Amino acid sequence: MLSQGLTGQLVRDPYRPDNNDTDQINSLENPPLIPLKSEEILVRKCRLASDRMDSRFGRFRTEDLPNLLEMIQGAPVLIGHDRKSLGIARFFGGEIAKRGDTTWIIPKFYWAKDHSGAEDLRIQIDAGVYNEASIAFVYQKPTCSVCGEDLRSCPHWPGKTYEGELCFYWYDKVERVTEGSLVYRGAAPGTGIELVAAESDETRSMEANKTDKKITIKHRGKRYTAQLYPLIKDAGKGEMKLNGITGGV
Ligand SMILES: [Zn+2]
Repeated sequence: MLSQGLTGQLVRDPYRPDNNDTDQINSLENPPLIPLKSEEILVRKCRLASDRMDSRFGRFRTEDLPNLLEMIQGAPVLIGHDRKSLGIARFFGGEIAKRGDTTWIIPKFYWAKDHSGAEDLRIQIDAGVYNEASIAFVYQKPTCSVCGEDLRSCPHWPGKTYEGELCFYWYDKVERVTEGSLVYRGAAPGTGIELVAAESDETRSMEANKTDKKITIKHRGKRYTAQLYPLIKDAGKGEMKLNGITGGV
């Protein structure tokens, strides 16, 4: 007779997706056929493209990054730009954020927990084995950094120096983002995968209401609306004090 003692501990996913994630996923173009629930998916985020020069001397303009983030919505995550295979995950949501001096598009991506390889993918990502990314896109005009003309017809060469200035080109008039890939080594420096920080109800409500200077918080099972920043945390009792509470629901 064979007997076995199992003492393994289940490690919880460091990020638990929430309704905000599933709302964004379920409202993508070509949404999931059966609306996803937060407990059915795994989510990570990815520094996919930035305003730094890449190894081919091409560069996105900082002001174009929000447009890129918009265009990546719903696009597949492939492995190594292999377009003969289907995606292993899908981009949604995300943010434009700085890492040091560089501005990045950092979309989130999700995949289904029920997929037979779901846990393998999570383990390889979280273990840092899969750790670089690359964006695939279609654009109209490579604009020369030296003279501002189309690089295909001007006398300058990217990578050469003219009067002390390195020539590169801007990726102008980006038309489409076709996919983002996990790659063995990306052409753009600094790409990578990150954990999604869990947002508290308070943080999210503050973000959502920033424009009208109102915040909604959940506290001890009730919702409160306050008109002004800041929230002042009482160090003594760990309770919230709110400036200008106008009502509770
Ligand atoms: Zn030129």
